[in-house]
Amino acid sequence: MAQRSRRPDVEAEATASPLVADSPSGATTQSSEQAAVESPKVVVRRSARRKRTVTAYREADTIVVLIPQRMSKADEKVYVQDLVAKVLARESRTGAPRGDQALADRARELSQRYLAPQLGHAPQPASVTWVTNQNQRWGSCTPSARTIRLSHRMQPMPSWVVDYVLLHELAHLVESSHSRRFWRLVNVYPDSDKAQGYLEGFQAAASMERR
Ligand SMILES: [Zn+2]
Repeated sequence: MAQRSRRPDVEAEATASPLVADSPSGATTQSSEQAAVESPKVVVRRSARRKRTVTAYREADTIVVLIPQRMSKADEKVYVQDLVAKVLARESRTGAPRGDQALADRARELSQRYLAPQLGHAPQPASVTWVTNQNQRWGSCTPSARTIRLSHRMQPMPSWVVDYVLLHELAHLVESSHSRRFWRLVNVYPDSDKAQGYLEGFQAAASMERR
């Protein structure tokens, strides 16, 4: 919000890089983090039409597990544990951090990894939160209050895209404008261009739908 840009729509292209994709240990770290931070609600639905197949998927903060009507309680327990673990593992490979706490942890990692080597310190925000009232921009930063907000529209996006936006907003903590120095800070992120392209494409598709 406090930031000014040469390009008015620059927030739509602001974004980050994937810790998960480029660190071999990333997936493991994240799945344990998610399990700890999230422990999602689990709903089991029995279906008479299902004979053997079991499946699970996420609906907002809940993981829904579908099982056959006649499955035993013992089998149910085993399958539910297994399927919930699989959904979480899949999300940890592809999805953005889901809760505000996970977002704050990720911000700390990104700052340490990409900004600290350049600045000699890792800038930390006072808060990082998902917000639902931000539909024109992907992310925003108020440097005076050291707060960062990310649009909930990015929640289904790959983590490397959300990381880019998060790093972009973290860089605004030390450089409020989109100056050369700002872009130097942000462009160390290896997927910077790719993430900006992803967001531009997403935005373009969304505006076509509205027509
Ligand atoms: Zn910006």
